[in-house]
Amino acid sequence: MYDVVIVGAGASGLVTAIVSARRGKKVLILEKNNKVGKKLLATGNGKCNITNQRPTIERFHSENPKFIREVLEDYGYQEIKQFFKSIGLELIEAKEGKVFPMSLQASCVVELLQWECEQLGVKIIFDATVKKITYKKCSFVVIYNERRVESKKVVIATGHCSAPQLGGVIDGIGFARAFKHTIVKSFPTLVQLTSPYKESYLKRMAGVKVEGRVTLKVGDNYIQKQGDILFTNYGISGLAILDISRAVIVELSKKKTIMLTIDLMPKMSYEQLLALMRKSLLKKSSKPLEIWMQGFINKKLIDPILEPLKLKNKTIGSISSNLHHLELIVKKIKSFSFEVNGHKGYKGAEVATGGVDTREIETQTMESKKQKNLYFTGEVLDVDGDRGGFNLHFAWVTGIRAGEAI
Ligand SMILES: Cc1cc2nc3c(=O)[nH]c(=O)nc-3n(C[C@H](O)[C@H](O)[C@H](O)COP(=O)(O)OP(=O)(O)OC[C@H]3O[C@@H](n4cnc5c(N)ncnc54)[C@H](O)[C@@H]3O)c2cc1C
Repeated sequence: MYDVVIVGAGASGLVTAIVSARRGKKVLILEKNNKVGKKLLATGNGKCNITNQRPTIERFHSENPKFIREVLEDYGYQEIKQFFKSIGLELIEAKEGKVFPMSLQASCVVELLQWECEQLGVKIIFDATVKKITYKKCSFVVIYNERRVESKKVVIATGHCSAPQLGGVIDGIGFARAFKHTIVKSFPTLVQLTSPYKESYLKRMAGVKVEGRVTLKVGDNYIQKQGDILFTNYGISGLAILDISRAVIVELSKKKTIMLTIDLMPKMSYEQLLALMRKSLLKKSSKPLEIWMQGFINKKLIDPILEPLKLKNKTIGSISSNLHHLELIVKKIKSFSFEVNGHKGYKGAEVATGGVDTREIETQTMESKKQKNLYFTGEVLDVDGDRGGFNLHFAWVTGIRAGEAI
């Protein structure tokens, strides 16, 4: 009989194991992969954006924001830093409050977590897919492969179904349902967006990467994200797009046509760009606009700018007498509209929204309000964070809370 069986050797499961084993508990982790932390290894492009210096409530999303506030209370950046220090991992701070392991390697995070578990006597069984969990006579029976194990407590640390190629599954949701938990509907987030490409010239932008600003209009408000934007043969990707994807998918679910507006040159104001381009317009010049614009912008973007304005095959001489045409070009560069109609699914997503309804979870302990001694940690819960280390922050905090409570 174990004190606790943890389902999943991912971010939150490993931390729960360490914290409870440090308090003398007999811990078993069942992991369906053949190694620990497969998803963790892929985080932050292999560098692991491990947490954020400012994990404020507005960076997290849930149907129950009160839960996030209470869970994060007392567990900020310093507490997480302290935890990692205790396993020998130093952290470094980067821009936008992001925090990484000093080695800049996710694999170092995984190896230190695993070593600490082993050191504390935590048993990890690999290739062990948990199929069923039942509660009988004050203890749990956990069925994995064709075997069974008994435990006083169980932690569901299975994550959610984002990135199935890295092991993302909905098993945890199934276990929660079996204990009568309510499930908040999920959709992929931090994901690439697709476009219907109604205009043929848009497809020709594939491969272009800009440091741009993307805007989504929601009612009377504007949501803006700045950063890499990558045009692709299916639609649009890049960090700014991942950041805005959640809001876009919420709007798409209302069956609306969604246009994103992209400022292709956010570092210059409309006036500055107009003045710069205007200076190089030469009256009577026979220089084609397509050639002249290469002095300012990626050439794959020139057709998509000129075609809808019906300015293709004109010379700079022909537009220099009428500033209106130049104004149209600059406006197009500063607000390039692009229809999006979907996303690349869980396979492209860093995170899945939704999950176990947090109104049914104790905020201090992560224990289920439906079943005594059953705990939920990490992404399986209905909380998702912005890009920037917030999802892992939530995984660590919930893992620590569950471990302490156990
Ligand atoms: C490509 C990518 C990059 C990311 N980068 C970042 C980043 O830089 N910063 C950040 O904050 N977040 C990042 N995330 C999100 C972050 O990785 C997750 O939110 C976090 O790992 C969730 O932790 P977890 O403990 O809930 O689940 P996971 O870490 O997903 O672990 C769950 C574990 O449970 C196991 N499991 C599932 N079902 C069973 C079962 N039935 N039996 C046995 N084992 C089972 C799985 O195999 C897995 O090992 C990224 C995600 C992806 C996909």
